[in-house]
Amino acid sequence: MRLRTVLHRRFHDEHGTAFVYVTPSAAILALDGLAGQLVAGFDVPDGVDDADFVAQHADPAEARRALGDLVDLGVIRPVDEVRPPAAQLPPMPFPLATLVLNVTNKCNLSCTYCYEYGADKIATPAAPGEKRVSRMTEDTARQSIDFLLRSSAERPQVSITFFGGETLLNFPAIRAAVDYAEQQAKAVRKRVHYSLTTNATLLTDEVIDFLTTHRFGITISIDGDAGEQDRHRVWKSGAGSFADMEPRIRKLIATNKERKGRPIGARVTVTRGAKSVIDTYRFLTGDLGFDEVGFAPVTAGPDRTWALGDQGYENLLAEFSTLAEDYVAAAAAGRAHGFANLGDLLRELHQGIHKAHPCGAGLGLLGVSTEGELGLCHRFVESKDHALGSVRKGLDEGKRTAFLEQAHVDHKTDCRVCFAKPLCAGGCYHEAHVRYGDATRANLHYCEWIRGFVDLGLKTYARILRANPKFFARYESS
Ligand code: SF4
Ligand code: SF4
Repeated sequence: MRLRTVLHRRFHDEHGTAFVYVTPSAAILALDGLAGQLVAGFDVPDGVDDADFVAQHADPAEARRALGDLVDLGVIRPVDEVRPPAAQLPPMPFPLATLVLNVTNKCNLSCTYCYEYGADKIATPAAPGEKRVSRMTEDTARQSIDFLLRSSAERPQVSITFFGGETLLNFPAIRAAVDYAEQQAKAVRKRVHYSLTTNATLLTDEVIDFLTTHRFGITISIDGDAGEQDRHRVWKSGAGSFADMEPRIRKLIATNKERKGRPIGARVTVTRGAKSVIDTYRFLTGDLGFDEVGFAPVTAGPDRTWALGDQGYENLLAEFSTLAEDYVAAAAAGRAHGFANLGDLLRELHQGIHKAHPCGAGLGLLGVSTEGELGLCHRFVESKDHALGSVRKGLDEGKRTAFLEQAHVDHKTDCRVCFAKPLCAGGCYHEAHVRYGDATRANLHYCEWIRGFVDLGLKTYARILRANPKFFARYESS
């Protein structure tokens, strides 16, 4: 029988131990010398005859046993094996887990790269004479809660994320939503988690008290120290925003620590010419006291002056590798590390995550516009082309299912042969829409970056596995 290695990625740790990431099962396996030779030797398009291979080996019995193990583990399979049917969706309607409420589409800052103001914004422009609601009313916020609770089927827990514009410009809607959710969830015996993204400029004592009392998961958009923050994150006057947000962030972090709240994260948008990731990470965790930092390359066409470009992505990956060294040292000592991008990837690798869709958008997660219209996520809510109903009239299940079928990774030709597809699945729908005008297309402009980052994750995983395997226990109950 002719056999060949399935789609995979081979890699080594720093001691030369061979590993393989097996794409169809999303498993990571350590390989001994013979298994390593087999995985490499059978990695040929037409396969290798198993009987010939075994007969030619110095120890045929050992070769047969090792080959049998790899076949059983799904690493080497018959060349003509029929693949299971592609593009299956989970049973629909899929119960909702998270609703992202865009409580306002206005912002008090004018960050140069913001998709809300740039050409990356995909909202359908208002028709002549049409008036758009810029702040969600308290009624719409409450209707959103009702919609989430009735669309979550048997889930014992749901999440509400508040987003903007600048989210805290509409604090009354946030408070109304939380008060109502507490009452209603109790009545149907569900737990509700809250989270919010903010630019921190409106964090008053009252807001800090409210957020920490309700154990919000808080993400602050901040690009680094004063020099970094003030390059792009500016007021409408053009003045930098760092001095205004810094004392508020310190107060929030101190109060949250006192109250033993959930980790507070910084989200850094990485643009061309930014300081090194390592310096920014150290400033945000060491000086300001953030628990976690996530870095996102700016979403921008290559024509923008702040776009990263190929060299920028390469540099970013090199900086991520340096920060990964810190991560490994912390993990070896049994300590958590706040490099959120890597932490999320390691969790997905450990849990064997295998995505058919890049994220929960349209599946367990939906966005709600200021007017109560539903969209795939917060970035799609004002795009008429992507409208999926409303919290009042309900979800357009036909349109939702049709989108998810079309966006399934098995329909993305290039992704079918990519080792990283269980983790990437084609990448963000919004970026695909901005880049190619079609949210269901694969983001082929950043494959190299994704594959490079997954490679870094795999190597880091192997190193921590050797240094302190107990570190991964933290990912086993979540
Ligand atoms: S978008 Fe690129 S990196 Fe992502 S799964 Fe598809 S081919 Fe792989
Ligand atoms: S579509 Fe993009 S922006 Fe929306 S939830 Fe998914 S990854 Fe995030």
